[in-house]
Amino acid sequence: MNIDGMKCSRCRKPAQHRLPSHNARFCDRCLGMFIRRQVEKAIKEFDMLQPGQKVLVAVSGGKDSLALWQVLLELGYRAEGLHLGLELGDGKFGEASLEASQAMAQRLGAKLHLFNMAQMAGHSVQQIAWANKRAFCSVCGTLKRYYLNKACLDLGFEVLATGHHLDDEAARLLGNLVRRHQHYLDSQWPTLSGAPGAFAKKIKPLCRLRAAEIKSYAKSQGWEVAKGECPRSKGATLPYYTEAVRLLEERMPGTSLNFYMGYLEDKGGPPPQPDLTQRCSVCGMPSYAQQCTICRFLENTRRRELGKSGASQD
Ligand SMILES: [Zn+2]
Ligand SMILES: [Zn+2]
Repeated sequence: MNIDGMKCSRCRKPAQHRLPSHNARFCDRCLGMFIRRQVEKAIKEFDMLQPGQKVLVAVSGGKDSLALWQVLLELGYRAEGLHLGLELGDGKFGEASLEASQAMAQRLGAKLHLFNMAQMAGHSVQQIAWANKRAFCSVCGTLKRYYLNKACLDLGFEVLATGHHLDDEAARLLGNLVRRHQHYLDSQWPTLSGAPGAFAKKIKPLCRLRAAEIKSYAKSQGWEVAKGECPRSKGATLPYYTEAVRLLEERMPGTSLNFYMGYLEDKGGPPPQPDLTQRCSVCGMPSYAQQCTICRFLENTRRRELGKSGASQD
């Protein structure tokens, strides 16, 4: 479908996609080229990967991670997928995510590794959140980071790529600035260096691309993608910042890229390596306390579950 008889800014053929942030219009082919260029640029600019390097892509089944996986392969990286099943109490959301990830693996002829977070932790996110009296989303996020990292190291990959895009990063930056979360501001960078046996290197190659641009790309490719929000994400504040960034972008195209890249430029470089000298006495991962957050979470959950089964036997 052609938009208003417009021509592609690159090849002058009929254009299907409008990219206001770049004041451009593209046909399907040139949009694909644009997406690959932006990913290549981010990879170079933030020292993410060496040519042809092995990389594990966290694949949720949504458009972002699917696009990331395909583009990394097209750029010549040896990219395999990792799907971490979350079981968030809505079977359909989980199923659609897994199916879309598997369909993509087949289309790409690439390997997809399947993990299940509840199995890895021994408890569901809900059980862990209850036992620790914490908000569901924050517990889920902490667990996800820990187990994605663990799965990556267990599979022997040094680099983990996630599908966070510019809207995600700009919204997170805005939220951290508004709430003056200095600790999070300090660690916000599209590449976080790894350490052997402790942390995989974390990269966000889509950090120059807007959600709408990736959506257009996914559409032009005709993929089945898992749609919808996480069924448990009500009450999270990030969507308000995402909305704010989108509004600014709508009124002033190009704002989010300037805002995010400008911030990184002022900052000058990635955060320093985390302290690796102290380790968790249970799992051996770097930790400031004697036990890391995850192992403390799990111990509290075990205790609560034991207490419950003990009480029911009386
Ligand atoms: Zn074109
Ligand atoms: Zn631990």
